[in-house]
Amino acid sequence: MPKTCIIGAGVTGLSTAWQLKKSGEDIVVIESHKEVGGAVQSIYDTGYLVEEGPNSIQLKSRQMEVFLNSIPGLREQIIDAQSDAKNRFIVRNKRPYPVPRGPLELLSTPLWSKLGCLRVLAELFKVKRSDKNEESVADFSRRRLGHEFYDYAINPLIGGIYAGNPEALSIRYAFPRLYALENEHGGLIRGSIAKLISTPKGSANKYSKRIISFKDGLSTLPKLIAKALGDSIYLGSKINSIESIKNKWSIKWDNQSELFDRIIVTVPAHALSKLPFKNNLKNKFSQFCGIDHPPLSVLTLGFKREHINHPLDGFGLLVPESEKRTILGVLFPSSIFKGRAPKGEVLLTVFIGGERNPEYATANTEKALATAIPEINSLLGVIGPPTFVHLKHWEKAIPQYKIGYGRYLKALNLIEENYPGIHILGNYRNGISLDDCLSSSMYFGTKISQ
Ligand SMILES: Cc1cc2nc3c(=O)[nH]c(=O)nc-3n(C[C@H](O)[C@H](O)[C@H](O)COP(=O)(O)OP(=O)(O)OC[C@H]3O[C@@H](n4cnc5c(N)ncnc54)[C@H](O)[C@@H]3O)c2cc1C
Repeated sequence: MPKTCIIGAGVTGLSTAWQLKKSGEDIVVIESHKEVGGAVQSIYDTGYLVEEGPNSIQLKSRQMEVFLNSIPGLREQIIDAQSDAKNRFIVRNKRPYPVPRGPLELLSTPLWSKLGCLRVLAELFKVKRSDKNEESVADFSRRRLGHEFYDYAINPLIGGIYAGNPEALSIRYAFPRLYALENEHGGLIRGSIAKLISTPKGSANKYSKRIISFKDGLSTLPKLIAKALGDSIYLGSKINSIESIKNKWSIKWDNQSELFDRIIVTVPAHALSKLPFKNNLKNKFSQFCGIDHPPLSVLTLGFKREHINHPLDGFGLLVPESEKRTILGVLFPSSIFKGRAPKGEVLLTVFIGGERNPEYATANTEKALATAIPEINSLLGVIGPPTFVHLKHWEKAIPQYKIGYGRYLKALNLIEENYPGIHILGNYRNGISLDDCLSSSMYFGTKISQ
């Protein structure tokens, strides 16, 4: 059996480790922090369950469910989002409006004009773009779906997913599935119809997406994988050197040293250049510092239920850039999942900063409150003080797949080709969502252990 060292115990590193361990492989995981999980950090404090990073996982395939169920103890912890969470709100003219969920709601929504809706339908007749130059998410959306839908649907969504700037993000790399719909089927509506026809209702491949978390928060996932890995995982460890010697990789960490057949690097893109490689790999990794990771502050607030006028009957609200507000959006965690706030109280998570307003992202709780409170007062009708406050500041939050991102992917491929036995995985390779990270680890782990 080959011996593998996995560097980094975020969701990518741990799920790769679990996939290999299940196949009977010999693995070691080295993590610099004392806790596992990386961006996934759930904190329980006086009845409130705070997610400092991601809030939920969107499961897109049955294989992923099977993978999660294979982690000892995880199946019984899984909880689905409550039905209210199906509503999403977008702010227009200073008010949050629900995103229409059917044709009737579409006819009466104040969120988009009738003309704007017709323009979206006209996408069906738009020809495929012939220009081969890379296109931004904003240009792609305006071209295919019109300006209004871009301003009041796509733009706020990008703030919510990437904390990013749609004018800079590349449609090809940031949303490869949408890019493929136009390229392979001529358009988004045509592509979606083709996909529906190819997987009819009741077919084995048909999977209804689920939004899930765990009773004690998302951290349950990394914690249970770590438990299953037992003493193969080293926490709070410092790697002193990584060197390729003949066909092996020598890693020295803490007071230990071992030879491995493979190393799988899963640290964030901005941390790659700090790894102590002994050969010229150190220089090769320095280029990935060019991947932008804007700062983001996640402010979690508890309120007495009666102190918020809005029914909070949804997943949360997103703020379009054109509304010129200082926050990106607000999640309603206690409406999404049960057990997130004490009885009679609600939990809100406010996102501040990102590419749109990096100057508002802060590690200072007073400043974050000064930004967030007036915004949520005006959008949700807050009539009482918060009963709970928790701030997490991410100096480097989410990698931005901007125009020209292909050069980073090519460089990663080249490193793997030129240095046999090294593999690089993470949210800068195959997508930023937890589902993307889990899927690529699962796929990769299966492929290399065959
Ligand atoms: C605020 C926020 C909200 C998000 N919301 C969602 C959401 O709701 N849903 C969703 O699907 N996704 C969400 N995401 C994205 C998702 O959480 C991340 O893309 C994903 O968790 C990244 O996992 P990873 O393992 O690739 O990287 P990381 O979680 O960054 O893990 C990398 C690990 O490497 C370790 N490391 C670094 N340097 C070293 C070193 N020298 N030696 C050893 N170890 C090292 C780090 O300590 C860390 O544990 C969110 C992200 C953020 C920041």
